[in-house]
Amino acid sequence: MADRLEFRPPDAALACPCCGGTEFAVAPVIWKGLAEEWRLSPEEWRLVDEQQGGHCRRCGTNLRSQALAAAMMKVTGFQGLFVQYGEWMAARGLQVLEINPAGSLTRFLAGRPGHRLATYPDVDMMAMPYAGGSFDLVIHSDTLEHVRHPVRALAECRRVLKPGGHCVYTVPLLPGRLTLSREGMPPSYHGSPGAGAADYVVWTEYGADAWRQALEAGFGECRIMAHKFPSALALAAAA
Ligand SMILES: [Zn+2]
Repeated sequence: MADRLEFRPPDAALACPCCGGTEFAVAPVIWKGLAEEWRLSPEEWRLVDEQQGGHCRRCGTNLRSQALAAAMMKVTGFQGLFVQYGEWMAARGLQVLEINPAGSLTRFLAGRPGHRLATYPDVDMMAMPYAGGSFDLVIHSDTLEHVRHPVRALAECRRVLKPGGHCVYTVPLLPGRLTLSREGMPPSYHGSPGAGAADYVVWTEYGADAWRQALEAGFGECRIMAHKFPSALALAAAA
């Protein structure tokens, strides 16, 4: 399985889509207990550390949030840096729903007209208190793996989107595997060693077929967008 993963050499042209920074560092985040529960090979362990702990030295945005920012800008046709996106989005009247703080992107969007942050448990992603067709963009970052019924949650995202809108999101994705439900397995938690909070329990381990749930939820398409393969991928689902 893991031997099918390939790592590109560091890309000299890679720039942070948020601030344009070109210097990156990795602060490892995976501990031994989680690696064992997740059955991570050494390569997969490195991949997840890079995905979650790799970050821009200038603005601190981690790689998965960079992937999300790049995908949001691409699907909405914005060319520039994410630091300018909140203003652009507001000027165009775009309505953006952020479900749980999306990594470190919230600070670029918060306070802008049209931005709404929904947090658990005030808002349950599987039954959201918004009228259908309310938003141009629904975003979430590494939230879906903690939702008991992810297809139902994605169907809710689709319901609240306007025609032509996009649901852009990340999950901790291991491209050398297929998606697996942890239902019936011993509980595994993200966050930090010994956290054990119910919010952080993992229901789904995501793999190469992560797109499938979006289609099961009724979306007509789901694109995989690579900011950096294989550690910085975002999914973009549209009607
Ligand atoms: Zn940056």
